[in-house]
Amino acid sequence: MKPIKPKLSLLDTAPTPLQYLSGLSQELFREIYIKRDDLTPFGGGGNKLRKLEYLMIEALNAQATTIVTVGAPQTNHGRLTAAIAAKFGLNCIIVTVGEPEAELSGNLFLDGIFGARVVLKRDDGRDKDVQLEEAAKKVIADEVKKGEQVYFIPMGGSDTTGLLGYMDCARELDAQAKEQQISGATVYVPVGSMGTYLGLYCGLKSIESDLKLIGIAIMPFDMEKLKAYFTQAKEEYGFNFDGDFHVETGYIGKGYNEPEPRIREAIYTMARHEGILLDPCYTGKMFAGVLSMIKEKKIKLGRQVILLHTGGMPGLYAAPHREKIERDVKDRIQVIK
Ligand SMILES: *Cc1c(COP(=O)(O)O)cnc(C)c1O
Repeated sequence: MKPIKPKLSLLDTAPTPLQYLSGLSQELFREIYIKRDDLTPFGGGGNKLRKLEYLMIEALNAQATTIVTVGAPQTNHGRLTAAIAAKFGLNCIIVTVGEPEAELSGNLFLDGIFGARVVLKRDDGRDKDVQLEEAAKKVIADEVKKGEQVYFIPMGGSDTTGLLGYMDCARELDAQAKEQQISGATVYVPVGSMGTYLGLYCGLKSIESDLKLIGIAIMPFDMEKLKAYFTQAKEEYGFNFDGDFHVETGYIGKGYNEPEPRIREAIYTMARHEGILLDPCYTGKMFAGVLSMIKEKKIKLGRQVILLHTGGMPGLYAAPHREKIERDVKDRIQVIK
């Protein structure tokens, strides 16, 4: 199938592996697979690269010299945007709202390595999205004044263009599942800015795949916003299917990127059965949700489960998470003479 819009080729290692997790499957009495979109080949990898294949070509075609994007201080999207901007010789500015930390950690640390500039707006207590928008507008105006041609990428790369990256992933995954004779499995995906979920949804629907899709919200979730996003995509691309979404909102816990013992337990479970690292903000929380759904028998015995690994590993090293993990594991270090 021809892509709907032009794209860059940033995933020359695609298809990303679809792996069977034998240890976890045995332990949980479900057939568990993982789609390794963390193993994409730039900037440490992650789901945002698929979106950037479509977004960055738009930026290049618009003769952009500077990419401006927004996100939380630990945004993986910002890190990957910085990496791809570097690859194409563009400036990258990541605008974020928060308080400066004593120590640069996780993604903030890596953003600098990729040569990005991070504009950290001090949180004044108002709605974060409003603050982000204002700060981004100001940064863009300053850049334009300097003569830069700015291309703006919204939070998480989740617009109708970025969505196309996960429509591609849906086709890729469907073909792999068929090849491995996994039909009728349910794909589980963390839901943040929604582009990954909605792209997969539209991709699977448009090829009438027999894979089902469930999103696990990792932050407060607004169904109306998802519907509006879908309506926009439907208008632009003329989809002939409806939006019939399944997003679980019962596993958000304390809030966006908050450290929680159940998330760390899920990370340790994956690491100690399969040797695969999840992240504390998205994939760890999603897997904690899936483990709860198994315990609650919402996912029945023998069912086929495909976890989408969206990346995010640097989050393990973000100061608040690292501190807690250190406490959990430090007894495993045995010092001898
Ligand atoms: C951004 C991100 C997600 C969520 O994807 P959205 O398209 O924003 O919903 C999931 N996992 C990781 C690691 C991410 O960086």
